[in-house]
Amino acid sequence: MPKSDPAYDVIIVGAGASGMMAAATAGYRGKSVLVIDHAPKVGAKIRISGGGKCNFTNRTVSSANYHSQNPHFVKSALARYPSSLFIDMVERHGIDYEERDHGQLFTLNGAGEIIAMLRTECDWAGVEIRLNCSIEQVTPLPKGEGTHPIYELHSSQGIFTTPKLVIATGALSYPKLKASDFGYRLAKQFAIPVVPLRPGLVGLRIGLPDWTDLAGISLPATLSCQGYDWTRDLLFTHTGISGPAVLLVSNVWREGLAIGINLLPSIDAVKEVLALKAQNKELRPWLRSHLPKRLADYYWQLHPLDGKPAELPDDTLRTWAQALQNWQITPTGTDGYGKAEVTVGGVDTQAISSKTMEALTQKGLYFIGEVLDVTGDLGGYNFQWAWASGVACGVAV
Ligand SMILES: Cc1cc2nc3c(=O)[nH]c(=O)nc-3n(C[C@H](O)[C@H](O)[C@H](O)COP(=O)(O)OP(=O)(O)OC[C@H]3O[C@@H](n4cnc5c(N)ncnc54)[C@H](O)[C@@H]3O)c2cc1C
Repeated sequence: MPKSDPAYDVIIVGAGASGMMAAATAGYRGKSVLVIDHAPKVGAKIRISGGGKCNFTNRTVSSANYHSQNPHFVKSALARYPSSLFIDMVERHGIDYEERDHGQLFTLNGAGEIIAMLRTECDWAGVEIRLNCSIEQVTPLPKGEGTHPIYELHSSQGIFTTPKLVIATGALSYPKLKASDFGYRLAKQFAIPVVPLRPGLVGLRIGLPDWTDLAGISLPATLSCQGYDWTRDLLFTHTGISGPAVLLVSNVWREGLAIGINLLPSIDAVKEVLALKAQNKELRPWLRSHLPKRLADYYWQLHPLDGKPAELPDDTLRTWAQALQNWQITPTGTDGYGKAEVTVGGVDTQAISSKTMEALTQKGLYFIGEVLDVTGDLGGYNFQWAWASGVACGVAV
């Protein structure tokens, strides 16, 4: 097999969001950079992101928008590469964008413009990209400078060597877009721990009887789990629940936990229900006036109250109204990696430098982007992590 000669200063595996960002950053510093991807095109996930419009970042980003076993890990990279810097780049490239609710920024003319921008930045920075290239083996050769090994990559397009190997292979979500477990396997090869993986930003399955009757209903609701709560649209599907509120809560939900659903987030249900008693009015028509009829009837079937409010004790009415604003449902599972936008868990950030993204116990080996145990909320936060971790690594390699 032909060996790369001279060796590259940096090899990045994965031509996705974080990999291209790191590559351009390192290339501008004069490093010789090779990016390898087994897919036929760069940035496949960017292309389908945000419904094809790519929610490329958010106006307001903080560590509170991320989930990780080490919640402080993201702070350094996010502080050094805030969303305003990515917005500057988008504007320099003449890409039109719009701000939607909750500070989410989307392209106006399609995600392809973000891919083209990153590709252009890589070209300007002199980065070489090899596509359709799969890696069979990574071997550390103990002959680098100081304590640095040289990494030898055996690939379908030859053997490549480098003292700085960056893993930007993303996570398990959307296997049809060539997502792979490469990063986790490589971490294990070097005894770097991996936090258990599960699908995130994903719909949840509900096993209650006749649930399909609710399919298609959408309404604003507050969903809560593990001390977090989000008020967004909730969508009922044939198999469970989805929509922004559910995707957000799915990042913190774990098998066996209940989620709380407040179906009436903008009213004081206890006050209104006690007022019905005073006015000698019925409960069921009140419920139907506040919720889509199919949902009101379904909820009433599960939680009926016999008797008119006027005949019931205040405590009974209060408990019923409180339950309506904290409907406890235990999902049976998620819609899985095929539908999940992200993967929760990943390479343990306790084992990685938050400044450079280098593994603490393996010189010259870096992990960036979603392969790490860093998961953002819905709203452009996952891309912002990809950009910020890519830059943190790109300036360090
Ligand atoms: C449907 C969908 C919509 C999304 N929408 C948004 C959004 O609007 N906003 C947002 O912030 N986030 C969104 N995300 C999440 C976002 O796409 C990811 O968090 C982000 O792309 C992660 O960047 P990355 O560089 O870590 O990985 P990726 O962008 O996934 O790149 C990984 C690259 O590595 C390559 N690769 C994998 N395995 C190998 C291997 N063995 N050998 C060689 N190459 C390999 C892949 O082909 C890929 O090109 C969405 C995700 C999905 C699935």
